[in-house]
Amino acid sequence: MKIVLATSNLGKVKEIKELLKDHEIYALSEILTPFEIVEDGTSFKDNALIKSRAVFEALRKKGLENEFISLSDDSGISVEALGFAPGIYSARYSGANATDASNRAKLIANLDALNLDRASAFYTACIAVSSNLGDFTVHGFMHGTVICQECGSNGFGYDSLFIPKGFTHTLGELDDAAKLKISHRSKGLELIKYVLKGLE
Ligand code: IMP
Repeated sequence: MKIVLATSNLGKVKEIKELLKDHEIYALSEILTPFEIVEDGTSFKDNALIKSRAVFEALRKKGLENEFISLSDDSGISVEALGFAPGIYSARYSGANATDASNRAKLIANLDALNLDRASAFYTACIAVSSNLGDFTVHGFMHGTVICQECGSNGFGYDSLFIPKGFTHTLGELDDAAKLKISHRSKGLELIKYVLKGLE
């Protein structure tokens, strides 16, 4: 199946390509001129569908709707002690010009303000597919703990602060293969494989 990814996040592209090895995966910029998509939904599912539909519509406009489907991932981390923030705002937690580093700094500062050096948290990934046969979504989750100290440099986003349940090290310290076995994105992508099989 030929799949165009509705994301320019290189960390996600790398993980999705690894997990959907049986399919032809294209970054958005390989097939279409990248364009801005406003993610103004109120849930991971809303935003994942906004992205996959926008890219599929762009494929349709180019007459490519029979050749490709689009696939998006909307994901983030939710920290219980912070009222499940940043959640769907994970990518822009520290403002319009947020970077992974500034987002992590804000998370640490907000936990510090509550005198917490660790807190329960979970990652969510909603994977959406848009195709000629309609739109489909699935979710994957990964539970664990966020800590107030950066550990490791692997992964992206909040990985250096997140210790998965059952582990003693952060995702920043674990290798790619270990993360792929347990991550929210992997779980979602395992489920979306059934959708892809159906579409084939
Ligand atoms: P999105 O691109 O709007 O879905 O935002 C995703 C954001 O959530 C990323 O920029 C990261 O901040 C965070 N995030 C999602 N998945 C992961 C992950 O696997 N590791 C670390 N951070 C993640």
